[in-house]
Amino acid sequence: MSSDIKSYNFQPNDIVKTCKYLEKGLCFQTQGLLCCVHGSLASPVIVSTEEIKNGQCTHELIVRRRKELFLGLNGKKEVDLGACKGCCNVITKKFKDVSFDTLGGEYLPGGFNIQNYTACNERCLYCCYAQQNDFRPPQYDILQIWEMFRKKGKLKKHNWIDFSGGEPAILKNLDEILSYILKHDLGTVVIYSNASIFSPLIYEGLKKINLF
Ligand code: SF4
Ligand code: SF4
Repeated sequence: MSSDIKSYNFQPNDIVKTCKYLEKGLCFQTQGLLCCVHGSLASPVIVSTEEIKNGQCTHELIVRRRKELFLGLNGKKEVDLGACKGCCNVITKKFKDVSFDTLGGEYLPGGFNIQNYTACNERCLYCCYAQQNDFRPPQYDILQIWEMFRKKGKLKKHNWIDFSGGEPAILKNLDEILSYILKHDLGTVVIYSNASIFSPLIYEGLKKINLF
């Protein structure tokens, strides 16, 4: 644990409130990085798109923001907890078993979600993006962020990775992203596609990736 948490004087065997998503999840949304997305419920934004675009996002910053939510959950700091307040995924465990510096390592649906874009080739009547004509390209490079963890040996396998959007098949670097996932054996990939574009890449990727 870094000194910012140490200053709160937690003891190793103290029972604290935490959450797997808060410790190791990271969702890539248009507004920035979140710990989780569960339908219309999501954790607060821990790093904004603006911060990422300004080059302020680092591994250290992500870890620090996770810790701030943790401190808020444990009543140690005034933090806007958003959906974390009263969330059914909050668990208790010993402080010595809490860790904030990894990405992934466990199948957490809604904990490794790629939705940093809303661009799509359809115009569904029920779609909030289509109705608001909100079709944005990727707002930042997710591979840069994965690399921040990988370079420190903190990018873990065995993940449940959701591609939503927007339409994943129109992502210009989908090949690169899927290749990265395969190369580093990051886990199961779920692609929500409208299938109006047949992507040989998605087809090949699904054949290679262990689905369950
Ligand atoms: S406590 Fe709930 S809302 Fe907060 S990160 Fe965990 S799963 Fe997400
Ligand atoms: S395919 Fe999906 S993202 Fe595209 S307009 Fe329809 S619901 Fe929205």
